[in-house]
Amino acid sequence: MTKMVYTFGGGKAEGKSAMKNLLGGKGANLAEMANLGIPVPSGFTITTEICTYYNQNKGKYPKGLKAAVEKSLKKVEKEMGAKFGDPKNPLLFSARSGARVSMPGMMDTVLNIGLNDTTIEGVIDRTGDARFAYDSYRRFVQMYANVVMGMDGRVLEDLLEEAKEKKGVENDTELEADDWKILVAKFKKEVKKHTKKPFPEKPADQLWGAITAVFASWDVPRAITYRKLNGIPEDWGTAVNVQAMVFGNMGNDSATGVAFTRDPATGEKVFFGEYLINAQGEDVVAGIRTPQQVTISGSKKWAKKAGVKAAVRKKDFPSLEETMPEVYKELEAIYLNLENHYRDMQDIEFTIQQNKLWMLQTRTGKRTAASAVKIAVDMVQEKMITKDEAVLRVEPAILDQLLHPMFDPKAKKNVIAKGLPASPGAATGRVVFTADEAVKWAEKNEKVILVRLETSPEDIHGMDVAQGILTGRGGMTSHAAVVARGMGKCCVAGCGVLKISEKAKNFKVDGKTYKEGAWISLDGSAGTVIEGKVDTVDPKLSGAFGTLMSWADKARKLNVRTNADTPKDSAVARNFGAEGIGLTRTEHMFFEGNRIDSVREMILAEDLEGRKKALKKLLPMQQKDFEGIFKAMNGLPVTIRLLDPPLHEFLPHTAAEVKDLAKKINVKPVVLQDKIDSLHEFNPMLGHRGCRLGIAFPEITEMQARAICRAAKAVSKKRIKVMPEIMIPLVSHVNELKLQEKIVRDVAKEEFKGTKLKYMVGTMIELPRAALTADEIAEHAEFFSFGTNDLTQTTFGLSRDDAGKFLPLYVDQKILPCDPFQSLDQTGVGKLVEMGVNLGRSTRKNLKVGICGEHGGDPASVEFCHKVGLNYVSCSPYRVPIARLAAAHVAIKEKLAAKAAKKK
Ligand code: ADP
Ligand code: MG
Ligand code: MG
Repeated sequence: MTKMVYTFGGGKAEGKSAMKNLLGGKGANLAEMANLGIPVPSGFTITTEICTYYNQNKGKYPKGLKAAVEKSLKKVEKEMGAKFGDPKNPLLFSARSGARVSMPGMMDTVLNIGLNDTTIEGVIDRTGDARFAYDSYRRFVQMYANVVMGMDGRVLEDLLEEAKEKKGVENDTELEADDWKILVAKFKKEVKKHTKKPFPEKPADQLWGAITAVFASWDVPRAITYRKLNGIPEDWGTAVNVQAMVFGNMGNDSATGVAFTRDPATGEKVFFGEYLINAQGEDVVAGIRTPQQVTISGSKKWAKKAGVKAAVRKKDFPSLEETMPEVYKELEAIYLNLENHYRDMQDIEFTIQQNKLWMLQTRTGKRTAASAVKIAVDMVQEKMITKDEAVLRVEPAILDQLLHPMFDPKAKKNVIAKGLPASPGAATGRVVFTADEAVKWAEKNEKVILVRLETSPEDIHGMDVAQGILTGRGGMTSHAAVVARGMGKCCVAGCGVLKISEKAKNFKVDGKTYKEGAWISLDGSAGTVIEGKVDTVDPKLSGAFGTLMSWADKARKLNVRTNADTPKDSAVARNFGAEGIGLTRTEHMFFEGNRIDSVREMILAEDLEGRKKALKKLLPMQQKDFEGIFKAMNGLPVTIRLLDPPLHEFLPHTAAEVKDLAKKINVKPVVLQDKIDSLHEFNPMLGHRGCRLGIAFPEITEMQARAICRAAKAVSKKRIKVMPEIMIPLVSHVNELKLQEKIVRDVAKEEFKGTKLKYMVGTMIELPRAALTADEIAEHAEFFSFGTNDLTQTTFGLSRDDAGKFLPLYVDQKILPCDPFQSLDQTGVGKLVEMGVNLGRSTRKNLKVGICGEHGGDPASVEFCHKVGLNYVSCSPYRVPIARLAAAHVAIKEKLAAKAAKKK
């Protein structure tokens, strides 16, 4: 085994920030801060490799670990001038988890290790503060019992409440040394009763118990859920950081806090933080007391939002800048130093012990999409990063948050309460009061808002399915706020006016009760809670977003089109930057208004004459549709797919519908039912659909081709450029394409006579046989569009409509890395795509190739499309910006890789 333990502190460290894989993010950054000369309590990091070893060897540690830990411990003792377990001058430790990427609050941490009935006397002697000493002691017992010994935290919490009640006080801070001393003894007794084990007295036992618990916390259910949601591999493991304690609970010149170097919700360039006087560690995050603001300006803003008068704010909720101006200045210098050093927004933890500032953590801060975009663009303007870096800083998928509708500013809103705007967005749903209920309701396709007094990492599964999160307690850095921002989920936190009862499943405000299931809306940017549902509007994409996207567009090689069936969708997509339509599904138009009658008439016609009569009615309607789309796209290419689905999809299903239609087309219901029955297919997705329809009924293809040509002609007369690309679906053999191509070209010749209009004929590649014979097919197709939904279905031999029953199991058991209908199966289906591209271009060099399945908007699939040389991807309108950004990412990464290779 290689080096197992790395020390840090006293202005130097054995590790550095680049060693995150080995030391975890927290350990690596503690080392980096120590190296930068920032005050960090000394300590050491046990590597993630030990976690992996521990998990693979049934809870055993490698030889030599004990010795390595002891050696590092001695080093820290020397630096701190105190000794672990010493009765006179005891050193206390924390044992902190920390994986490669931050998993906020998901794993465990134990504070104040090393306290027992002997060392406590040493602490009292050295500090002369028995209240502080016993407060730390009881925190330790509480935390250790819960984290290491697996005891239900509520039992001790209840004892604490009891003690407060007896004494008639409300806050923990009002209890005195003797109260805590009695509680410690009571706690220990209770621990023994519940766990059947005595509370460990020996500091060394305490330390190893805590280290082991932290390693084991890698595998607690909430951590597993978090990893699944965030795609974090199971085998990374966590490091353990053992660090000398500093105390924010040593009186009114001590404090603890959390801050962001820029606003994590909006990205605004302001120092943003919260702190609590005379408090320790988790107190801020847990939302036990209402935290105060770090800066004066932040404090004033807070007071305004919370409706607190200026004088009251100054007296009862002053900022750190006001209470400890010297320390604040030091903190300010450190945060600027850290941001410049890491060249990114940082999320920091600090503790002040008797006016001395200590930094306990720094990491790249989680942020909302809006904030990510603003910070990236600002940092380019501040010359901190390059444009390419800025583009890479924003994950394509998170743009989703920006593209979704927001509340209509003009809509009427009955605001019932105001909390903190913890994570922006608009959410409407029915209230539920536990994470489990949220999941239950969501499974029934109900939209829910999760309402909690405060959320804990235990609630992660409920937060995941909720539209939004509302909490009664906690600040902008509380668990709910941080996690919601990370998920891009709307959150209103610390809404104290709500009387939330998780037990009774309701909340009360202004004398009104809202029970489980009641509809409410949350505005995460305003921090408001609104009764009922609220209308939404599309977002405006300008400012920083527009700037970032313009940089992305310059960088990318792949074009991005959209899948749109209506002029409205086309307009939305253009607004989002679509460069054409990659797929218009003509059948969607068949359902509109009373057209379905003519469609049914065509399907049910007894002979060619009957069909033609019905088609004649459809022709002008289809022409109008295409005109609308051509106009909306104004000269950009538009790919139109001819009729694709099996015909029975258009026919009535219930007896009442059949009766109704029979009357309309003047036949007997039984005759109609017979005809419908005759169209029944056992496996319609592989049945009479796609070009197979056009081959059986060439007049359908002819009508659709004519509608497209006439629309093009009509629109071009209005001086609007058109470029129709007519696409034949579900081709498996070149002969099918040949027949359909001829029909289209004959019509176009006739319709376009005397004009200079151009068009193209191409095909979908969505069956394996088409990909395998793409060279033959390309001789008749001017373009290919990979229909990767059907291609995935037919390559796997897996029905898309039935896969929901077992595909999740496949993903759970890791048979497949992910749902192949969401992210392209690159090794299998992707191979067919690549083969199709290459074979096609072997017979037609300038073959235009795109993809129009759902995968067109999936960042990983977009990356793949770039790599195999596609000309464009096409996706739903709301995903167009995501695809643009993903295309830029892959192009920039390629450029950087080429540069690096050249250097070598
Ligand atoms: P998390 O990953 O959940 O934030 P941390 O390991 O950062 O867990 O610790 C939890 C809290 O305890 C934080 O507020 C942190 O600042 C505080 N803390 C951890 N170690 C120490 C220490 N040695 N001295 C003082 N406070 C500490
Ligand atoms: Mg932390
Ligand atoms: Mg298809």
